[in-house]
Amino acid sequence: MVSSVSWVRGKCVGKGAFGVVNVAVSKRDNRVFAVKSVDCGRGLSGQVEALENEIGILKRVTSPHVVAYIGDDVTCEGTASFRNLHLEYMPGGTVADLDRADVDERLVRRYAWCLATALRDVHAQGFVHCDVKGRNVLLSGDGEMAKLADFGAAVEIESSPAMLLFPRGSPMWMAPEVVRRERQGPESDVWSLGCTVIEIAIGKPAWEDRGVDTLSRIGYSDELPEFPIQLSELGKDFLEKCLRREPSERWSCDQLLQHPYLLPYYALVE
Ligand code: ADP
Ligand code: MG
Ligand code: MG
Repeated sequence: MVSSVSWVRGKCVGKGAFGVVNVAVSKRDNRVFAVKSVDCGRGLSGQVEALENEIGILKRVTSPHVVAYIGDDVTCEGTASFRNLHLEYMPGGTVADLDRADVDERLVRRYAWCLATALRDVHAQGFVHCDVKGRNVLLSGDGEMAKLADFGAAVEIESSPAMLLFPRGSPMWMAPEVVRRERQGPESDVWSLGCTVIEIAIGKPAWEDRGVDTLSRIGYSDELPEFPIQLSELGKDFLEKCLRREPSERWSCDQLLQHPYLLPYYALVE
């Protein structure tokens, strides 16, 4: 464990090219939170920039279904210096790591509702997430609450023309217009939401990975990912509204929250 100014770094809960995510404890009040860190010396400049981008955006986004920003700082640990983002700790892992045996349609619906709520708020507050996928959806300890995380690729809606040159996100979840580098807006997040709901239901990405061929199928064919056979007709109808190839025909998150697949939850909580 490494001691920092006001908190102690605990066990690692996520690792990637970007750096690490650890559990941390505040020395002041023993509060537990998560810390996403990039080594300023060793990380590529793009990684520090992505974390700065994420910090700037998460500070401004509020939603009960977005992992909450708690703070940020820079720490010196040994000879290294880290840029850190403090986040609400989600102990339940990601929806990509769920045991399939535990996932029934009630949970699929519930997580779909959590994500549609998160994206409705993110879009209403002026941002596009750009990287919606199972690994970026975190769960509460009891597994009932899902929250959207990883705003490293997120952008303000106004800056979307700048995105044409650089599609953001993860290929298998990308909307056709993003693959074609035409545009990346709130509608593109809705496509990724559809892919993520399929991923939750079947326990693997919606598209089978065939390398470059997958991208050409997503961007330039009439194909759609297969809708899971185990889902109800209502569930498949919901997916059909998310996975329309023409972005202007896709439902918005506001509309999706009124879809009968999600409406029971919507009516209950809001
Ligand atoms: P990256 O930008 O490298 O993908 P993420 O923000 O997605 O980084 O975090 C990487 C992993 O760390 C996540 O997939 C998850 O397993 C874990 N993680 C991230 N944030 C939290 C958190 N707030 N609580 C618990 N685990 C987290
Ligand atoms: Mg991630
Ligand atoms: Mg990221």
